[in-house]
Amino acid sequence: MTVTPRGIQEIEVADKRVFVRVDFNVPVDENQEIVDDTRIRAALPTIQHLMDQGARIILASHFGRPKGEFKEKYSLRRVAQRLEELLGKKIFMASDCVGEEPKRLISQLKPGEIVLLENLRFYSGEEANDPAFARQLAELADIYVNDAFGAAHRAHASTAGMAAFLPAAAGFLMQKEVKALSEVLTYPKRPFLAIIGGAKVSDKIKLLDNFLDKVDMLAVGGGMANTFFKAQGWEVGKSLVENDYLDFARHLMASAPEKGVEFLLPVDVVVADRMAAEAQTKIVKPEAVPADWMILDIGPATVQLLEEVCQESRTVLWNGPMGVFELPPFAQGTTAVARILARTEAVTIIGGGDSAAAVEQAGVAEQITHISTGGGASLEFLEGRELPGVVALAAK
Ligand code: ADP
Ligand code: MG
Repeated sequence: MTVTPRGIQEIEVADKRVFVRVDFNVPVDENQEIVDDTRIRAALPTIQHLMDQGARIILASHFGRPKGEFKEKYSLRRVAQRLEELLGKKIFMASDCVGEEPKRLISQLKPGEIVLLENLRFYSGEEANDPAFARQLAELADIYVNDAFGAAHRAHASTAGMAAFLPAAAGFLMQKEVKALSEVLTYPKRPFLAIIGGAKVSDKIKLLDNFLDKVDMLAVGGGMANTFFKAQGWEVGKSLVENDYLDFARHLMASAPEKGVEFLLPVDVVVADRMAAEAQTKIVKPEAVPADWMILDIGPATVQLLEEVCQESRTVLWNGPMGVFELPPFAQGTTAVARILARTEAVTIIGGGDSAAAVEQAGVAEQITHISTGGGASLEFLEGRELPGVVALAAK
């Protein structure tokens, strides 16, 4: 299914100008301060390797959505500062990503030194995957490395187009992500349990369809489960529900046993009279949701059930929170699942931005086998789609 691209460790990089597409699209607060530098840290093994090998390193990333023009707010300067702190090394910040200034900075690099180019999305050619823009980027370097797994589901100039012009290889993060996610899809240790949550069924249709052919047990929680409750004729009050997907839900529940998959839904839920931290709450069975209330989390009996099925499993993949975990009274189910995954002996994989954040929040990230850094990219990968960024490398 997935083709494995050549790895950065397989190529000679000493003295070469190596263009590394990284994903430095870090979350920032209203003062433009970085609130989470996980993505910068995730690129360090590749950068460190290139430093050790004496490459001349050119880092490039997108940041936010500047829509093809320069906007100070989307400058990568703050990222350069954080990277300097993390590496304890000077980073030469370019004020552009193509043209004379980056060329000059790059020509002055000594082996092991680093230039960070300015935001790639200051040019519309980036997202348009304009071959002329891709060529301009390629002209800066001798070798192209893609380590931006989080952007690999996009066919942009720096994530896909550039590979046509230069020898190409995957960085360590890219290799680790592709390996972990393709292993779980192609030869998981069985029994294989997937726990799928999040707000909407419509976001996860392809994922659910793909997983039905791969897993032994499929547990659905979070807001998504409401549509499955309603599909069985249960009233869900004011809960989030997608009436257009009732047939899909019925079809999925009917085909699970035909495919030998055990399908599980929450057996109890936390309901609230409104979506607020101060709301009144109670625990009820999903077939007994009061008319004016809404389901905002899974209940303790469901947590217990998930613990049991996790203990039976040798691989557990989790995508999507079990409740509105942003509000503390409705975070318990999600936190409990994070802890269960941390305790189990099984191979544990987390795909999905919010689930990854929940695992960090619960303080158990260290005990998880693999937490994917790519939200949209890991979702598409798990849906069984080929990622343009991976395909472009593998085609080399
Ligand atoms: P991930 O990023 O891990 O793939 P999603 O983006 O699919 O996860 O879903 C996360 C969102 O789902 C969260 O914002 C959470 O508040 C929401 N959610 C979970 N359960 C419910 C629920 N019962 N009702 C409404 N929203 C929910
Ligand atoms: Mg999300």
